[in-house]
Amino acid sequence: MQALGLGATIGILGDGQLGRMLSQAASRLGFKVVTFGPDKESPAAQVSLASKVAAYSDEEALRRLAERCDVITFEFENVPAASLDFLTGLGAVVAPSSKALRITQDRVLEKTFAREQGIGTVDFRAIDSLDNLSAAGAELGVPSLLKTRREGYDGKGQVWIRSIDEVPAAFAGLGGRPSILEAKADFTREISVVAARGWDGAVRTFPIGENHHVGGILSTTLAPAQIDAAVVAQAHDIARKVLEGLDYVGVLAVELFVLPDGGILLNEIAPRVHNSGHWTQDGCLCDQFEQHVRAVAGWPLGDTAALHTIEMTNLLGPDILAWPDLAAEPRARLYVYGKDDPRPGRKMGHINRIVSK
Ligand code: AMP
Repeated sequence: MQALGLGATIGILGDGQLGRMLSQAASRLGFKVVTFGPDKESPAAQVSLASKVAAYSDEEALRRLAERCDVITFEFENVPAASLDFLTGLGAVVAPSSKALRITQDRVLEKTFAREQGIGTVDFRAIDSLDNLSAAGAELGVPSLLKTRREGYDGKGQVWIRSIDEVPAAFAGLGGRPSILEAKADFTREISVVAARGWDGAVRTFPIGENHHVGGILSTTLAPAQIDAAVVAQAHDIARKVLEGLDYVGVLAVELFVLPDGGILLNEIAPRVHNSGHWTQDGCLCDQFEQHVRAVAGWPLGDTAALHTIEMTNLLGPDILAWPDLAAEPRARLYVYGKDDPRPGRKMGHINRIVSK
C-alpha cells in the first residue's frame, strides 16, 4: 500500500480507551480520525474528529465509514469478521485483515495456528458436548481450565475443573457453549510481547513486559521485564512467527507463559494494541498506539527501544478517585479514559511510573 499522505483519515472500529489512545496518537501525526461503535460519548469519540454511533453490523453506516476513510482499523477483537469483509468488498483498505481477526477470535483456531507455526501451547481439546468434555477431562487430567472458544476476556468465560465430578457443572456454567479445555500451565511468569508489522513486511518488536493479574484482570506490567536474554529472544521470535503467519499489518500482542525450564507457551494473541503495551507511552519514543497508526498508514515503523523501565498500573473502578494523589506523583504520568461510572473492575485509567533511568 502507498503511504497515506498528511491529513488522511483513519477509521477505527471500536470506541473504548484503546480507540481513544489510538486516536490521540493519530492526531499527533496529523491524521483525522473517525470512530465507529455502539456508544455515545465514548472514550474514543470524545477525542476524535467524528464518531459514528452504530452497530458493527450496520451496513449502511459501514458504507459511509468506507467512503470517508483512507484506511480502517479496529481496537476491539470482537468486531464481526464479516464487517471487515463487507468493508473490503466495498474497496476500503482494512488492516489488520479479517483472516487475522477470525483466527484470533476463536481460541481453538488460535492455538491450532500457533502450533502450525511451531509455537508451543498447552495441550487442549475442542469441546462441543458434555460427553466430549468428560473424555477430554480424562485425557488432560485435572486441574484443567474450560474456556469459551469465543468472546472471553479478563478471565470471563472461564472455569477451572479441579475434579472430574465438576465436569457437568463446569459445562453448564459456560452455558454449554462451544469451548476449549486447556491443561494447566505451570508457569513461573506471565509475559507479553507487543509487536508490529507494516504493509512492506517490516517487523518491530517492543521490549517484553511482565504481567501480574488480579482476579483475571491485568493489574500491573513491568517493562522491560527482568528476564533471561534467551527468553527475550524466544518471545521476539514467536511474535515474528505470529505476525508473518497471519500476514498481519498493525500492532498485536502475544501473551506468553514462561515455564520453569525457560521454555515458553503461547496463551493468547490480541489482534490489536494491548493493555500490557501501555507502558510504551512513557518507556519508548514511539509507543504502541503510534506504531499501530504508522503500520496501517504505511508509514515507516518507529523506534521501539526502551528509554526507561516503567511500571504500568491499571486504575480499576474506584481506584481512579485517588486522582489528586496520582496526579501529584513525581516521575509518573496519569491517563484517564473519560468514563463516567467507576464501577468495580472497570478500566478507568492507568498510571505509568518510571522505576529507573
Ligand atoms: P486468558 O483469558 O486466556 O488470557 O486467561 C486469563 C488468565 O488465566 C491468564 O493470564 C493466566 O493467568 C490464567 N490462565 C489462562 N490459561 C491458563 C492455563 N492453561 N493454565 C494456567 N493458567 C491459565
